[in-house]
Amino acid sequence: MTGKIIKGIGGFYYVDTKSGVFECHAKGLFRNKKEKPLVGDMVEVEEVPDTEKEMVGQILRILPRKNELIRPLVSNIDQAALVFAVKEPEPSFPLIDRFLLHLEAREIPCMLFFNKRDLLSECEADYREKMQSIYEKAGIPVYFFQSNTKEDREEILKLLKGKTTVFSGPSGVGKSSMINLLLEDRRMETGSLSEKIKRGKNTTRHAEFFSLGEDSYVLDTPGFTSLFPPDISPENLRYFYPEFEEYRQSCRYNTCYHLGEKKQDCGVKQAVEKGEIAPERYESYKSLYQEIVQERKNY
Ligand code: GDP
Ligand code: ZN
Repeated sequence: MTGKIIKGIGGFYYVDTKSGVFECHAKGLFRNKKEKPLVGDMVEVEEVPDTEKEMVGQILRILPRKNELIRPLVSNIDQAALVFAVKEPEPSFPLIDRFLLHLEAREIPCMLFFNKRDLLSECEADYREKMQSIYEKAGIPVYFFQSNTKEDREEILKLLKGKTTVFSGPSGVGKSSMINLLLEDRRMETGSLSEKIKRGKNTTRHAEFFSLGEDSYVLDTPGFTSLFPPDISPENLRYFYPEFEEYRQSCRYNTCYHLGEKKQDCGVKQAVEKGEIAPERYESYKSLYQEIVQERKNY
């Protein structure tokens, strides 16, 4: 049967299958192979009779991976919920784009969750519409949530249904609150479990997937502390701004970077001026371009 590795601790992998979670010994596993299972891997397992315990299994092979993340080290991510707060902390466009680029460079589809919706009353009246318009043009769905009430739980669950989702974003925006909201009381169990991990050796953070039912999983550890430089070259950065695409056709040179070129030669610059491309996204493109060029020089 097949299942998903939802955590690996203390020499065991825990594999979630249709018949429940099997505890599989990591020792001796794939001794002759370089490949090491990752949390998130889909694997083939078979049950192993055990006189003392039930649900003991053995991993037979790892199924091909769709993708891998480094921080945290997990595989097979279907999508990312990129969490920012409406306020406290105030989001910045280049920061949002950095997170987007980091995930999109790994071909992970992103949704933008603006949390702390209750603070919208302190923002400009059109804040919500503005954010929606900017990112929806870029192909990123935008939602507004509040994770300090239960109100939005069902709606968030719907967006995660059937998928393996990571929550990402800067600290203080409410990622942990949102994950707790989704997991309700189940998170309490892991509290004690992670205490045990902390006391063990190698006390780095262990990633763990929680099942939300119906093949939906959420990663318990919100991640990505180091975001730059993304593995994107300055030349390729423009392709991560899909809303530039239709205007790029009218750039005079098809190598146009939409930067130092004259305005009359650049369709993208003209579209920014006409308000057809959000100036916030264009400015963010410019500053990230500079940053990537700078990073590469320092390398
Ligand atoms: P994380 O660092 O992204 O995991 O953020 P936390 O979940 O630790 O939350 C940071 C702070 O924001 C905490 O003080 C939360 O109580 C608060 N917070 C979380 N969700 C909301 C919300 O919807 N509205 C408001 N006003 N505060 C929230
Ligand atoms: Zn151009």
